[in-house]
Amino acid sequence: MKKAQSIRIHGVVQGVGFRPFVYRLAHSHGLCGWVLNAGEGVQIHVEGAAPAVDRFVQDLQTQPPPASRIAEIDLADAEIQGFAEFEIRDSEAGGNAPTVRISPDLPVCASCLEELFSGEDRRRGYPYINCTDCGPRYSIILGLPYDRPRTTMRDWPMCPRCAAEYSDPLDRRFHAQPVACPDCGPHFHLHAGDDVVNGEEAALREAVRLLRARRILAVKGIGGYHLSCNAHDRDAVADLRERKFRKEKPFALMARDLNVARRLVKLSPEAESLLISSQSPVVLAPARVALDGVAPENGDLGVMLPYSPLHHLLFAYGAPAALVMTSANRSSEPIAYEDDEALERLSGIADAFLIGERPIARRVDDSVCAVTALGPAVLRRARGYAPGAVAKLPADRPILALGGDLKNTITLVVGGEAFVSQHLGDLGNYDAFRAFQETVHDLTSMYEVKWETLRVVHDLHPEYVSSLFAQALKAAEIVAVQHHRAHIASVLAEHDALDRRVLGVAFDGTGFGDDGAIWGSEFFIGSIEKGFERVAHLRPAVLPGGDAAARHPVQAAAGFLAGLDDLPDLTAEPFNFPRRYIQARELIEKDVRVFPTTSAGRLFDTAAALLGFTREISFEGQAAIWLEHQARGARPDIEEHPLPLDGKELDFRPLLAAVIVDRKAGRSVPEIARAFHHGLAAGVARAVLDLTAQERLDTVVLSGGVFQNRLLLERLVNLLRTASLAVWCNREVPANDGGLSLGQAAMACLLQ
Ligand code: ZN
Ligand code: ZN
Ligand code: FE
Repeated sequence: MKKAQSIRIHGVVQGVGFRPFVYRLAHSHGLCGWVLNAGEGVQIHVEGAAPAVDRFVQDLQTQPPPASRIAEIDLADAEIQGFAEFEIRDSEAGGNAPTVRISPDLPVCASCLEELFSGEDRRRGYPYINCTDCGPRYSIILGLPYDRPRTTMRDWPMCPRCAAEYSDPLDRRFHAQPVACPDCGPHFHLHAGDDVVNGEEAALREAVRLLRARRILAVKGIGGYHLSCNAHDRDAVADLRERKFRKEKPFALMARDLNVARRLVKLSPEAESLLISSQSPVVLAPARVALDGVAPENGDLGVMLPYSPLHHLLFAYGAPAALVMTSANRSSEPIAYEDDEALERLSGIADAFLIGERPIARRVDDSVCAVTALGPAVLRRARGYAPGAVAKLPADRPILALGGDLKNTITLVVGGEAFVSQHLGDLGNYDAFRAFQETVHDLTSMYEVKWETLRVVHDLHPEYVSSLFAQALKAAEIVAVQHHRAHIASVLAEHDALDRRVLGVAFDGTGFGDDGAIWGSEFFIGSIEKGFERVAHLRPAVLPGGDAAARHPVQAAAGFLAGLDDLPDLTAEPFNFPRRYIQARELIEKDVRVFPTTSAGRLFDTAAALLGFTREISFEGQAAIWLEHQARGARPDIEEHPLPLDGKELDFRPLLAAVIVDRKAGRSVPEIARAFHHGLAAGVARAVLDLTAQERLDTVVLSGGVFQNRLLLERLVNLLRTASLAVWCNREVPANDGGLSLGQAAMACLLQ
């Protein structure tokens, strides 16, 4: 008995080797018909012996390519047309959804790994092994359509054996653009001073010897260089910090395998799924071991698994089971990705360089994820995710949203889909700004956007580099979107809820407000469709010295505490505030360079200063992160400090007064930090319950960097659980300013 089926599959099925997979599967079951990319998915017609067709359909669902994700599969009986073979057809007109054009980079797949370590395979031990199921994409693309001559593999013509695999639809390497082997492809070598060690085996052995001898190694990865050393060797880690001018910011780790990762951090099942996912991110989780210097004063460790063949080879040759793998840059610069640049910039940091010849087309950092009270969340969106689509936005024209100046990403909307770039960093840094410009160029040219039709969106801040950049573009329209509204809109865009009327709560460090003040604790009611009205906020404080206050918690404290009565002498025990505090108070008294603010970030800084964090921070958000980890050290059943809602204002004064009283009474810092967190969560929860009840809203949206505080989020979600409210936060884009560009794009997509 013969039969035919028509199959339509939706989900992530384009650009991930799905059609060759279907072709091979059909062949292995002796079936005829065709497969093509159609619209948002893949369309298949298959015919042959009825049991074989059934097995084919079953295998399709149970063994799809590793990077694919089947969201929906529609099956229908079809007429037998008498095909003599199975073929991959050209895509339907308009069938190539934009998503197929640029896929994110993929970790090495299981089949390639097996070959990498198998005795006979010709690619045994070859660090550039890949196939259609795995390997680099975004990081090697020079132009479109995605084809070998337009990748950084263009200088390595395929040998006859590779070419045969490349052109055989039955082969796993059919149309795998970066396909290569030791005969025809690029190689790795090791540079140490003036010595060069050639040949993978010798280079890897020497690299491993150096790592075991507490040296620092620069390793070329997929989207840039890493600096690596033995994570268990405190001297090597201290050396790396000193040479890199990175005093305290946590280093990411690479664990040899899942078992090693489980020994380093407490992994929930959800965290394990993130770790082994095809995005292969750094996963932040509570530490189970103390690793000196890896993440100072921080209860979490960030761990990832090996994702490139080279990483697997390093461990196979005997590298320490836990390696520091931090982006190779000096503090605050973006990741180094060009060889000459790396050699120059990193000389004096790395003792040796493991350099691969395949160029990297663009820098792509490691992504960072964590599991929160609301499930898995992306904290830094880069390798493995970028530049994938994250939301559907019904725009009448292409939109380019430029994000903010910190933790910058950009978003391009074409064909109704929003593509979010990789994390580009702080635009105040020249290299990051260059990466930002290159990415604007990359995305607009790859998606063939015409500037005459483009709507450009930027932050309302008139002095942001990204705003000035927008003003200089020759776009059809340029619009500004307020920072915190963009935060809220980013969540709604992710949840495909453009017309949903919600209460939005945006808490972060800094954003330019409607009134020119520095906002950062804002409550809004409205929707993307109709706009958001600010309905409540933190009681405004003053901020002496503007931006510099974000680097000095005692300076923020001078501002927030200026409104408190009966303030003790904070330069004395137990507070010991440095001179900077006095200077900031003088600014306030003279009313010089003093700005109004509702920043939640500075409120955290103030509490941190009162509890002992009185020095300058060395990375953004450090004092608030320190405070969270202090709080995690206390028992959970601590009471809450008061944060009353007074009309439309949350009054922070009783909250800070309670911190001061506790501290003077000698209460432990973790307990006070916890009572502060509980107070903040309770104050926000009460405001949320009041406002949603008054306005009959069933959804509350949380965004802004403060909600990356997992303790605060968990507490708040628990307090809201009793109410029948949907609580949404960011998932696919960061809640911090890395998600702004998506929100800006969403706010701009319904403009006429
Ligand atoms: Zn593979
Ligand atoms: Zn070859
Ligand atoms: Fe923000």
